[in-house]
Amino acid sequence: MSAPVMVASENGRRGMMAAMARLREGGSALDAVELACRIVEDDPDDHSVGYGGLPNVLGEVELDASIMDGATLRAGAVAAVQGYGRAITLARRVMEETPHVLIVARGAERLASELGETPQDQRTEEALRRWRERYDERGLTPGSTENLRNVARTLTRPLNLQDKIYKAARVDTLGTVNFIALDTHGNLASAVSTSGLGWKYPGRVGDSPLIGAGNYCDNRYGAAACTGMGELAIRVSTARSLVLYLKCGMTLRDAGREALRDLLALDAGAGQYMNIVAMTPDGEVAGFTTVPGKQYLYQRDDMVEPQLADRWMVE
Ligand code: ASP
Repeated sequence: MSAPVMVASENGRRGMMAAMARLREGGSALDAVELACRIVEDDPDDHSVGYGGLPNVLGEVELDASIMDGATLRAGAVAAVQGYGRAITLARRVMEETPHVLIVARGAERLASELGETPQDQRTEEALRRWRERYDERGLTPGSTENLRNVARTLTRPLNLQDKIYKAARVDTLGTVNFIALDTHGNLASAVSTSGLGWKYPGRVGDSPLIGAGNYCDNRYGAAACTGMGELAIRVSTARSLVLYLKCGMTLRDAGREALRDLLALDAGAGQYMNIVAMTPDGEVAGFTTVPGKQYLYQRDDMVEPQLADRWMVE
């Protein structure tokens, strides 16, 4: 018997509380991380995940999610899903009911319909208002040009390019939720869900649904999950790298810092950062970040509620 533990990105509080209760009753890590994600996905006030997530450049919400089972290394993911919520549940069903790992866009929407999921417009008034405001701020009009490459570039760029690394200008375009759980049977599971980068080019997929980039979980060595500019984690396979560093015998702190060094070697643009949360098979947790001032959430069995902790950086 292990004592349950969870770690998450900062926005995971409500999901973590519900999922910890499930773990304490003997529920599986896989059920816990799915439940936790669904709670954040359903929250219209979280504009980085699920219902109410920030739209792409065309004003459409496209959801990405992935889930991984540390006991079997099975994984499921969906990307660029429109018109259905709870992308994490769809990801789990890809894992459990198809021979595939990743199903995208039209195929994922078809699967949702086949599985009897109810279609639901994921755009809220608030998210659309922000989308229109973003165009206004940048002096652009939706639909005025076919050149979406330039529009998406202008909308996603921080207004003040002096804000080199992470100033607020960019923070409102990013966001994702990460959960990793250890259950009483000693199994690990990890889940990641997002509406991706706000104002992105249609069909853009980040790290969240890519196993190895934004999510990785292996009972033998540990698990890692990411938030931030997905393109960075894709280029250096951040989540899998951290777990591989653990496999090679590094401590959790060293493994996370090594994964950060991989990220810091990239030519990240203004406002582009990456955060990681991670857990070892015995329930040690940590958070890592390429920029100052970032925190993560964790909860151990003996804690009444989740607590925030500072993420490690590379010195
Ligand atoms: N990693 C997500 C993506 O690139 C966004 C985020 O975490 O903020 O789609």
